[in-house]
Amino acid sequence: MRDLILILGDQLAHDHPALLEADPAQDRVLLIEAPGEATHVWSHKARIALFLAAMRHHAQALRAAGWQVHHIALDDPTHATEPTLAGRLAATLRTLRPARLRVMEAGAWRLARDIEATALTEGVPLTWMHDPHFLCSRADFAKWAARKRELRMEWFYRWMRQRHHVLLDASGEPEGGQWNFDEDNRAPYPKQGPGLIPPPAHFAPDALTQDVIALVEARFPNHPGSLAHFGWPVTRAQALQALDTFIQTRLSGFGRHQDAMWEATPFGWHSLLSAALNLHLLHPREVIAAAEAAWREGRAELASTEGFIRQVLGWREFIRGVYWLDMPDLAEANHLRAEGDLPAFFWTGDTDMACLRDALRQTLDHGYAHHIQRLMVLGLYGLLAGVRPQAVSDWFLAIYVDAVEWVELPNVAGMALYANGGRFTSKPYAASGAYIQRMSNHCRGCRYDPKQRSGPDACPYTALYWDFLARHEAELAASPRTALMVRNLQRLSADEKRAIHETALQWMPRPTGETPA
Ligand code: FAD
Ligand code: SF4
Repeated sequence: MRDLILILGDQLAHDHPALLEADPAQDRVLLIEAPGEATHVWSHKARIALFLAAMRHHAQALRAAGWQVHHIALDDPTHATEPTLAGRLAATLRTLRPARLRVMEAGAWRLARDIEATALTEGVPLTWMHDPHFLCSRADFAKWAARKRELRMEWFYRWMRQRHHVLLDASGEPEGGQWNFDEDNRAPYPKQGPGLIPPPAHFAPDALTQDVIALVEARFPNHPGSLAHFGWPVTRAQALQALDTFIQTRLSGFGRHQDAMWEATPFGWHSLLSAALNLHLLHPREVIAAAEAAWREGRAELASTEGFIRQVLGWREFIRGVYWLDMPDLAEANHLRAEGDLPAFFWTGDTDMACLRDALRQTLDHGYAHHIQRLMVLGLYGLLAGVRPQAVSDWFLAIYVDAVEWVELPNVAGMALYANGGRFTSKPYAASGAYIQRMSNHCRGCRYDPKQRSGPDACPYTALYWDFLARHEAELAASPRTALMVRNLQRLSADEKRAIHETALQWMPRPTGETPA
């Protein structure tokens, strides 16, 4: 054998660069299902099932296209004693003795190091290949970042729009005369509710996916989450159909209510395309082109289209660039010195905070929550309650079907928890229950009152918010972006601050992960 091409579970691209150069007669493809990847964080059953089902469909498609595929199944008896991907790779290198191992850039720093170490130990030369499923390479991002005093997504996004000629007019100016329609994209739902939202694409599991679901239920019975609602795209054809459904029926409503939340409305107008993008079943270029074409053909408003494109061309690429720039330090970052453990109810949804319960329950049902739920409900709790960033990050990595470390970690540590000290956000995303009240209907049915800062009926978010300001007063007062928040705190009497602190303490996790309340 000449080359062994290792395809990782999030690299299921039909146009994988190694395959474009390979020869089916002398090269072989390797896919490894490793139980260790499902247990190194306590993964949601739907996340495990999605990766396995997509890998098995991909292996089938590769074989049909004439490739020799060496696919190590999860319960392969010859690998029973090696749960890790590295262990299974090492054993395979020893058996197959390829002249070379070829791998596309991995999505996790840890995995890349493991693969390098394994190839070295086994004496097989390793070639890393550039991942063409991103529109900004790691090297180009590093060059862009080196020219900047501060890393700000908005400047990166404008640069990417120009570089890739996205939503520009004939003279190279942004369509609609502005780069960013964020102001138009922050409306809550109307008081009477979101109304009828066209449903996202849902794919009934075929026989192969049903087998995977049964395997996951049997093999990982105690893992969190449900498989009852599993309908994620697991092939490229399904991913293309999911993209088409979104563009035809949901893009038009995406922008305006992008930040809105409503009880029992898990998906809103969101695209649900992150998992298909992260598994490389879709290329970001085709997603962006489809959205832009919809606007040019008059099928979607500019504000919605720009809002959506900003997420994919801006945030997604930016986050990936930051991850590779800042690893491995990012994984250890803890700027605010938060030391609490994750409350146990994050794994069960068993809390009487209505907003958090709704976000947790849909997460357990679907392995999905939209951005504002992740940032301003789930992440916000971690920030305000002082939960250790690594504990929050492990939970996010485990619980979402789209979780791969390159995208999960910067969002959690950098955006939600301010653990990297504002490397790419100008201030912590700290807010009280008033924000959640404005953007959702959750507070109407909640036993707490978002306006109360202390006492038995005080909203935990509100109490924790004011206590957070007090705990970090010196740092927040020194920044012009947060000084106003602190001035409001300074108007409170010492007695009120003490009462707030006592209330907040009930919601701050102990090392066991339990909150006293
Ligand atoms: P839409 O709202 O429809 O957005 C369209 C696309 O834009 C998404 O599919 C996604 O590919 C991209 N996108 C949007 N925001 C971001 C962002 N901040 N970073 C990167 N890409 C973005 N996204 C993941 O893919 N995996 C994760 O593990 C993940 N963890 C997150 C953790 C936290 C604390 C936060 C605040 C955000 C996280 N995100 C993550 C980003 C974002 O929340 C999800 O991409 C989005 O909710 C996925 O749903 P969607 O496909 O319906 O997105
Ligand atoms: Fe959430 Fe507080 Fe509103 Fe209850 S009152 S739903 S805990 S923000």
